[in-house]
Amino acid sequence: MATDPTTVRTDLASERDDLERRLAELTADGSAAPDFDENFADSAQVTAEQVENATLAATLRDQLSDVEDALARIDAGTYGSCEVCGAAIAPARLEAMPATRFCIDHA
Ligand SMILES: [Zn+2]
Repeated sequence: MATDPTTVRTDLASERDDLERRLAELTADGSAAPDFDENFADSAQVTAEQVENATLAATLRDQLSDVEDALARIDAGTYGSCEVCGAAIAPARLEAMPATRFCIDHA
């Protein structure tokens, strides 16, 4: 079997930790931003950074929720099956996208 659930679980867990760490860093930066806004003349720059951080944080949260879903499916024993048709997802696809929920036909 090309995709061993134990290996995938380890990979996904470390990806989850990485995403959580990056989100925590972003949130820390974001909460500091309002002070910059009040104290610095160039508030447009701060606003652009805040928008950029918020966009990045949203992307990271999406990825994190996919990874957490995948971990839950490993625990439930349903990992590697398409959520639409229930067919086994191709191992090469799972290797490329470990958190995917759909087979190639339903991507
Ligand atoms: Zn499918």
